[in-house]
Amino acid sequence: MLFQSVIGQSELKRQLAQTVREGRIAHAQLFWGDEGCGALPLALALAQYIHCPNRTEEDACGVCPACNKMQKLIHPDVHFVTPVNSTKEITSDKKPVTDHFLAQWREAVSGNPYLTEQEWYKTLGIENKQGNISVHEASRIIEKLNYKPFEAEYKIMIIWLPERMNKEAANRLLKLMEEPPDKTLFFLVSRDIMRIIATIRSRTQPVRLLPIEEDALTQKLQEQFAFPEAHARKLAHAAAGSYSEALRLVQSEKETDEHFERFAVLMRSAYSVDGLTLMTWAEDAAKWGREQQKSFLLYAERMIRESFTFNRQAGDVVYLLGEEETFAKKFAPYVNERNVAGLYNIFNTAIAHLAQNGNAKILFTDLAMQTARLIRA
Ligand SMILES: [Zn+2]
Repeated sequence: MLFQSVIGQSELKRQLAQTVREGRIAHAQLFWGDEGCGALPLALALAQYIHCPNRTEEDACGVCPACNKMQKLIHPDVHFVTPVNSTKEITSDKKPVTDHFLAQWREAVSGNPYLTEQEWYKTLGIENKQGNISVHEASRIIEKLNYKPFEAEYKIMIIWLPERMNKEAANRLLKLMEEPPDKTLFFLVSRDIMRIIATIRSRTQPVRLLPIEEDALTQKLQEQFAFPEAHARKLAHAAAGSYSEALRLVQSEKETDEHFERFAVLMRSAYSVDGLTLMTWAEDAAKWGREQQKSFLLYAERMIRESFTFNRQAGDVVYLLGEEETFAKKFAPYVNERNVAGLYNIFNTAIAHLAQNGNAKILFTDLAMQTARLIRA
């Protein structure tokens, strides 16, 4: 990861690069900040900058063999520790440690270095459990740091989420962190430093990350999703300096667009009593995932409610935006006192049936037919 690929944080990048150039790299650094502000990307960029023999004043070169290995997260002098737990394959008697999951880690971080803790657990398939950094992991760390660096000047141990380290593991590592072997660096990356065992925390030098600057986040979203500037800025503002939150917002917006499209097709064909389109619609709907079906039904329920309010209050609907508002305006005249309760009830019943694992095809066919009957009332 290059410094230039880390979103914003320009002052910190400059300071960190300077410590390397001046040969005063702190041997144990604690990168910390809220989720999504880029603590892990920054630690990775610093590691790459340290290992790159062709670095410039601002950044690593990005093309030498060392940079290449860093970008693939396979540099032999960079080690990773992450919270893990037992899975179907790596059962607890195998004493799960990060090395068991290195392939998944490389894939996840290459895909998104702003990976969140929950996303990592999802990748591991342990969403319902918390990961931890165990004493077995501590033993591995000690073992690895016994070797001299293979290729680079320094060995770097990146410990992601040290707040998940238990006391036993921390005790094993204390001495090593206090008097590390020559040319050894510890980069701890945390989003909750108060939960790090105090004796470990006090042996590190903090590198505090603030939320990403709004301009930098806006620019990133513009580049990544080709959004117009105003839209990217709106999202960046709502994400409050967290790239992870911005990605969540983009995802949920995409889902809302899909829901809108599906709702519009349903309502148009219901009004024109287009039986064939209604049947096709219901068949498609039956194939969506459960979560998507549920979220669509909730969305539709909201649209009916808003359309009715719109109808009665002649236009003052605050929750609807752009295309949705245009549709609600057109759709509003068809939602009236005679059918609003019925329409609302159709969707509400469907939500209940879905929760009881009702047959999706019957459920959506029924919903389409009943909507067609009521919409003309
Ligand atoms: Zn390089």
